[in-house]
Amino acid sequence: MVVELISVGTEILLGNIVNTNAAFLSEKCAALGLSCYYQSVVGDNEERLCGSIQTALERSDILILSGGLGPTQDDLTKECVAKVLGKELLLDEHSRKRIEDFFVSRGYEITENNWKQAYAPEGAIVIDNENGTAPGLIVPTNGKHILLLPGPPNELIPMFENQMMPYLNGLEPGVICSTTVKLCGVGESKVETDILDLIEKQTNPTIAPYAKTGEVHLRVTAKADNEEQADTLMQPVIQELQKRFGKHVYSLDEKVTLEKALVDLLIEKELTIGTVESCTGGMISARLTNVPGVSAVLKNCFVTYSNKAKRKLVGVKKETLDKHGAVSKQVAKEMAKGLASLHKTDVAIAVTGIAGPDGGSEEKPVGLVYIACCVCGVTTVKEYHFSGNRNKIRENTVARALIQARDCVMEM
Ligand code: ATP
Ligand code: MG
Repeated sequence: MVVELISVGTEILLGNIVNTNAAFLSEKCAALGLSCYYQSVVGDNEERLCGSIQTALERSDILILSGGLGPTQDDLTKECVAKVLGKELLLDEHSRKRIEDFFVSRGYEITENNWKQAYAPEGAIVIDNENGTAPGLIVPTNGKHILLLPGPPNELIPMFENQMMPYLNGLEPGVICSTTVKLCGVGESKVETDILDLIEKQTNPTIAPYAKTGEVHLRVTAKADNEEQADTLMQPVIQELQKRFGKHVYSLDEKVTLEKALVDLLIEKELTIGTVESCTGGMISARLTNVPGVSAVLKNCFVTYSNKAKRKLVGVKKETLDKHGAVSKQVAKEMAKGLASLHKTDVAIAVTGIAGPDGGSEEKPVGLVYIACCVCGVTTVKEYHFSGNRNKIRENTVARALIQARDCVMEM
């Protein structure tokens, strides 16, 4: 089936907010096996929104509209859907009661416009909003399906995952299941080249690559009568991918991030970790502390931006700094070794580099980064040349540091 997304909101058109809902919804629809051929953004304007809905209905089976379900005058999505379908908006008693309870339980005053959210087009399925007041709606119409979701991502995401996805999954017989094979430390083009033969002959399951900083995710999707059959179809492909990419595969679980994989590995090996960062200013430790339960292994995180901090906190020698400069293999190595020995951590990650846009030279250009990793007394340092702006260079550094630490721990 063909799905089409319409994101409603003048704020999106003006660039005041980034359309993260569309990115989220398209990814989920792809995972459901739905083909998305069109996406559009429409401002809070009745005529143009009705026009977009009309056009979308002519070419797609499923329409997903997000935003404009709120209580104010400029929230028009539901009204436009009803108008295009020639349906009336009727009071939904269940929603009215939920809105009333929402306000009463919080001690807020209910303004008149809030009742607008309790109206739904005739024949619509009303979806409770667990995180706000505007309910979601599913309007089946002439074999097509129009889904309406509230704009705020904290309302849209759980509503879509918990209530709308099961509906979409049930539209066609059978199920669509997917597994993500997550790879790190191998480039996107290398991955594509290595699996070209698999991609070319794919029908069911399919393999779709997605690149992230330092990572490539391969989504394997199968369509079958039931989950068990889908799994049987996917297993040989997953095993083949594992065979081809070996240690680069860090997880088969959608929810496991690179930092979580590293933390799990450290927990398994009973190793503590610490970081000492210069150009990333704490971004590595921020990634590590994303992981609940990291306190079992994380000991110290230092940001040593100045030379003085590098000397005082992790014992980098003055001579090393004078002779080689702060951005050097030798300083990165001493940072990692100093952290490990002075602060008693089994694994120490150290980074120093030139994130730009200034501060580069011919000898040491912007993007030059050294990452050192000391594991149980053995230190390895790698030199990297990243491109892009300051943020891109720093994000790449963080990903590479996590990957290098994972590699070193796995090799010990
Ligand atoms: P509300 O009841 O809050 O008015 P709504 O369903 O009417 O919700 P909008 O008014 O369109 O939704 O948007 C409310 C907020 O939701 C926006 O200010 C923005 O923060 C967020 N939002 C809306 N659309 C998107 C989008 N496409 N991507 C990311 N965030 C969005
Ligand atoms: Mg609104």
